[in-house]
Amino acid sequence: MTARILVVDDIHANVKLLEARLMAEYFEVLTAYNGRDALQICENGQCDLVLLDVMMPEMDGFEVCRRLKQNPRTTHLPIVMVTALDQPDDRVRGLESGADDFLTKPVNDLALITRVKSLVRLKMLTDELRLRATTGRDLGVEQMFNLSEVTELSRRGKVLVVDDRASSYERIVKFLAVEHSVTVVTNPQEALFRAADEEFDAAVISMSLTDFDALRLCSQLRSLERTRMLPIVVVSDTEQESGVIRALELGVNDYIRRPIDRNEMLARVRTQVKRKRYNEKLRDSVQATIEMAVTDGLTGLHNRRYLDSHLPGMFDKATSRGKPISLIICDIDFFKKVNDNYGHDVGDEVIREFANRIRKNVRGIDLACRFGGEEFVVVMPDTDLALAKVVAERIRREVCTHPFIVQEGKGQLPITVSIGVSTIEGQEDTPGHMLKRADVALYNAKRGGRNQVFVEAA
Ligand code: GH3
Ligand code: MG
Ligand code: MG
Repeated sequence: MTARILVVDDIHANVKLLEARLMAEYFEVLTAYNGRDALQICENGQCDLVLLDVMMPEMDGFEVCRRLKQNPRTTHLPIVMVTALDQPDDRVRGLESGADDFLTKPVNDLALITRVKSLVRLKMLTDELRLRATTGRDLGVEQMFNLSEVTELSRRGKVLVVDDRASSYERIVKFLAVEHSVTVVTNPQEALFRAADEEFDAAVISMSLTDFDALRLCSQLRSLERTRMLPIVVVSDTEQESGVIRALELGVNDYIRRPIDRNEMLARVRTQVKRKRYNEKLRDSVQATIEMAVTDGLTGLHNRRYLDSHLPGMFDKATSRGKPISLIICDIDFFKKVNDNYGHDVGDEVIREFANRIRKNVRGIDLACRFGGEEFVVVMPDTDLALAKVVAERIRREVCTHPFIVQEGKGQLPITVSIGVSTIEGQEDTPGHMLKRADVALYNAKRGGRNQVFVEAA
């Protein structure tokens, strides 16, 4: 994972120490010795995460953090506050000023690397989501999602707590319930089943389960398909350092030491819940992008690109199984006049309504798509010529017998359609030829006076 970390501290030695540790983990490191320089570097978009000292002259860490979070250009930048051990209140102030997590001086290596990795992953997701949101806007699609909405959602996660000591889990629940809905499961085997069955956003697992190795549960959660993506935070006792390292190697996302600090717990779980939700949003948006590429925006039918990529497959399937396949091309008659007389918007309404009437008259396995402006194609598997003509005739009648209602009921337009029909013919036939024949039939239907169905044989 290559990411650029900005280390901000007014004491030279502190900066050098953190820089060396991060570079040993192959992070790129930028440094700043005061708040003003730090703000400049962030504003220029040069870093992915900030490690921010609290105590600095002129502008302290809280102020830097607040400014970064207020600026839309830097608000998504994860910030880790580096606080002094003897100033526990600084953690609360840090979180209040918008920090995502904190580390305590002297900074422990494991803690440093774990927090940095965890937040850098989150940053990568956030960047990708923001990019997609912008792309969506550029393409004129209503924003596919709203990032601040997701951030809001991250405060109401479903969290699974696996712990069998009442005194311990009661404390955890008390802390987490402020922001999340918490389910406690005391039996680790049951926890595994519940995690697979229910949609949790994060799991918090005690490393000190009686008679059960918590690491085994972590490893099982990582290997099950259903729970592979579930973020896990383990709760460790101070002497369990080697266990924590093994847990992280197994793919556990973060850890919290006992005695548990409320704010620390909230910050860590919040980060994980966000990560899970962002991942889901990203997956949905990939789906949406794919759908967008093959869907016609005006009618919601498939577009020509989709037809071009699917017709050959449908055709081959029919050929190999010795089944018929037919298609129709429908073209609205004198559509240009609709635009000319009533305007383009009414024209759009007519196209939409026309698409609806086609949709109502075809089966689920048929492929209906908008072929071009006011031309539509329906491909019908398992359908011979006689049946295809029946469908075409039904669509034609459906269009001409009920006028199109436009402008919210203010206008009624009589519309007619001409339709060309073709079916698969012989061994030598191709999807292109079949399409061409339907087009010739359509042309003849137009020439023959419109509002009719024509067939073109090979
Ligand atoms: P014919 O009966 O011969 O099909 O005549 P026509 O007027 O329907 O055909 P022509 O191909 O001359 O005109 C089609 C018109 O459809 C021209 C074009 O401006 C319009 N058009 C194409 N796409 C859209 C669209 O998305 N919305 C609207 N409103 N009009 C469109
Ligand atoms: Mg037309
Ligand atoms: Mg036309």
